[in-house]
Amino acid sequence: MDKVITVITTPLYEAGLHQKTMYIALRDNATDAASELRPLQPVPSDNAKGDVDFYQEAEDKLDRLWRTKLGRYLYDYVVKEDLKKEGIRLPYSPDEIMLVSLPKHYTLWVHKKGNAADPRQDAYLHGSRFVNKFRSPAEFCHHLKWLLHGQPTKANGKPACDCRYCDGSRSQAEISQGFGAYHKRDHHGGGRSRGGGRTRAQESPIVVYKDYRKW
Ligand SMILES: [Zn+2]
Repeated sequence: MDKVITVITTPLYEAGLHQKTMYIALRDNATDAASELRPLQPVPSDNAKGDVDFYQEAEDKLDRLWRTKLGRYLYDYVVKEDLKKEGIRLPYSPDEIMLVSLPKHYTLWVHKKGNAADPRQDAYLHGSRFVNKFRSPAEFCHHLKWLLHGQPTKANGKPACDCRYCDGSRSQAEISQGFGAYHKRDHHGGGRSRGGGRTRAQESPIVVYKDYRKW
């Protein structure tokens, strides 16, 4: 395999290109998790009705899906800005963006609840010292951006982060609305959005997720 060519290094991350894929590797300090904060109930427990209620560590495929979505977000809202600041021009725009791993000490879990044969399954990202858990890449991406801005704090010591948990003044719907059609596709994975949001002439983020189900 050819080498990944580094295009930018900062105190918090490094990004490189391999063919049309960009890899974003976070440094160990790009985290607000001090140790692995895990869900309280990691063991399956059947009750009399045969219902389950437990957390299972996410499989690679789901982890990768989150990292692809977060990678795209970071590219659009952090890496591009940094490249511009440094006067770096990429030889071509990446088709896929991959966060190499979640921030240090963050772990992704699936909460399984209900009938043991077919329980409800919800993904949760655990680890932050400030936020109990994030329920989707869309919820976490703002907090991730805050991590990559060096975790600035307000006068009261609270994170100056605009994610729905740190900020608290806006709902996730309002936050996501700021990105137009960007996050709506999170739940579907296919199909084109109906032209909502801003037009991004050259680099529609829509293209990037198209193959994730094959991974
Ligand atoms: Zn936050």
